[in-house]
Amino acid sequence: MAELEGLEFGKSDFVLLDEVNMEQFMENLKLRFEKARIYTFIGEVVVSVNPYKQMDIYGKEAIDAYRGRELYENPPHLYAVADAAYKAMKRRAKDTCIVISGESGAGKTEASKYIMQYIAAITNPSQRAEVESVKNVLLKSNCVLEAFGNAKTNRNDNSSRFGKYMDINFNFNGDPTGGHINNYLLEKVRTSNNDRSSHRAVLSALQVIGFSKEEIDSIYRILGTILILGNLQFETDSESVQVVGSEAVSHIAGLTTTEPDNVTKSLLYRTVATGGGEVIEKGHTEKEACFGRDAFAKALYERLFCWIVARINAVIEVKDYNPVLHGKNTVIGVLDIYGFEIFDNNSFEQFCINYCNEKLQQLFIELILRQEQDEYQREGITWRHIDYFNNQIIVDLVEQPHKGIISVLDEACLTVGKVTDTICLESMDAKLGQHPHYTSRKLTPSDKTMEFHRDFRIRHYAGDVTYSVEGFLDKNKDPLFQDFKRLMYNSSNPVLKEMWPDGQLSITEVTKRPLTAATLFKNSIVALVDKLGCKEPYYVRCIKPNEMKSPVLFDDARCQHQVAYLGLLENVRVRRAGFAYRQPYARFLQRYKMTCEYTWPNHLMETDREAVEAIVTQHGFQDDVAYGHTKLFVRTPRSLFTLEQERAAL
Ligand code: ATP
Ligand code: MG
Repeated sequence: MAELEGLEFGKSDFVLLDEVNMEQFMENLKLRFEKARIYTFIGEVVVSVNPYKQMDIYGKEAIDAYRGRELYENPPHLYAVADAAYKAMKRRAKDTCIVISGESGAGKTEASKYIMQYIAAITNPSQRAEVESVKNVLLKSNCVLEAFGNAKTNRNDNSSRFGKYMDINFNFNGDPTGGHINNYLLEKVRTSNNDRSSHRAVLSALQVIGFSKEEIDSIYRILGTILILGNLQFETDSESVQVVGSEAVSHIAGLTTTEPDNVTKSLLYRTVATGGGEVIEKGHTEKEACFGRDAFAKALYERLFCWIVARINAVIEVKDYNPVLHGKNTVIGVLDIYGFEIFDNNSFEQFCINYCNEKLQQLFIELILRQEQDEYQREGITWRHIDYFNNQIIVDLVEQPHKGIISVLDEACLTVGKVTDTICLESMDAKLGQHPHYTSRKLTPSDKTMEFHRDFRIRHYAGDVTYSVEGFLDKNKDPLFQDFKRLMYNSSNPVLKEMWPDGQLSITEVTKRPLTAATLFKNSIVALVDKLGCKEPYYVRCIKPNEMKSPVLFDDARCQHQVAYLGLLENVRVRRAGFAYRQPYARFLQRYKMTCEYTWPNHLMETDREAVEAIVTQHGFQDDVAYGHTKLFVRTPRSLFTLEQERAAL
């Protein structure tokens, strides 16, 4: 067993702080980072600081140390949470989920990989071939999604440009039988190509997952098309717009198996239905052509990515499951999703991300409190009301039908005629100006700066964020001309055709507007929250220590900022208000009976509960506990750490 750490490494659980305030929290976090202790608990939550260097704390030996142990029996680690989630799933047949959040570069994706590896390592002890193959595909799917969904950004060399939620299904033995991935794509700009070695790894991963030769070929053809579109230029001569050079068009036609003439036409014209029902072709201006080209490249990428996810899902989906034959099928969900973002310039993407974080924060508080309340009730322990900030009001501000920001945005997008971002902002002001969490920089008409009225501010639970409304409408609309969809649908490549089913609609059929980006995102987040809501949650909160990717720099201001918006102090307070740990009497006895003369080697009392009382009293922490019907409840981990130390000293 891993040795418990001494105090020179700081407090391994923030619940142990003498006082819950930012200063003490930061002091402990920094000390631990400097001592290479990158993980710290808040009860069952793991706070992780990106070490930016290889740590010798993963792998088989560490996995064995954490396997089947209770949280406080080992130093804080991702493995401890993974094990807790797995145990709850296996012992109590509970669906569980592990929510990993934090800003870009904080270490979420790395954490999710360690968690997956842990789960893979502790399952299927009998090495059954079919389970091994499921595990293999689950792990390989990560590699593929990273290859297509990650990019080098200035914040992270391997930044995930999508949120990912993966369900892993287990049979009654606790072995994986399949899974399902949901992706939450935000940024569509994605065309970097990989170096040769990772290219080979991706290719082999695609093959392992079961992509056919034709499918793999189509994937590379689409990537090629996106690259060509990235370099394609237009020019205007004698009033008409042309594509510069003819090779680009024939190249695209070749890659997508379409007619060069049709490619040119889609790039330069759009088909529109007039009021009288007449269908005409309208030539683009150069600006419109560029806009169309970019939207096409982004849509190609987005559809490719979603199609890859769907293909992986078809492979890993649990088939022929018979609950009578196979017992209850349980799930562990792993969510790797962007954390709260506040930049100097915040746009539509940050608006969506931060809305998502409001929803997750709401769920977090709700679940933690509900979970606590349920358990206290079951165990006959008096429930004490815990005060917390309910962010429902902010969630409503964003998502409420007819009144919220998304609905105002959608309305503006559906309005025929010229609606600008600024006009949209004005209608937001008119509807939401009085909302306590919404501020707009309403300026009087006489004010000369009126034309700069382009932002609004939301008071989020994590802090104030000012959003520039510029580009909101364009990003919210589906900007892709139907002509491109038709072009792709008419490709003689079946894989490509499959990705563009909406290309078969005629121009008169598409007058019905598709759902907007904000509404689609909202729907997917609502569905996600529903999925998480019925599971027992475990949390990993990731912090990025500095902007330089340095293993030795702890940027106090940046870290404090993250601690604030991850709501970690609030988290410690909720945790301290209740009982941090609980333990069935028998299990507690088994672990600590050697620390008390009345219980070693065996107790002579009538019940295990009485024997536990003897241990607690002997160590003098009777004021720190409550006795439930089947479990001992311990308020602070200090008591358990004392016992652990004593046990280790024996
Ligand atoms: P994004 O939101 O941009 O996807 P992220 O939170 O997923 O960011 P990661 O890609 O997981 O961030 O981590 C960024 C980098 O930090 C990794 O490529 C790796 O170099 C380093 N890193 C993160 N966690 C660890 C770790 N536990 N040990 C060593 N290095 C790590
Ligand atoms: Mg990531």
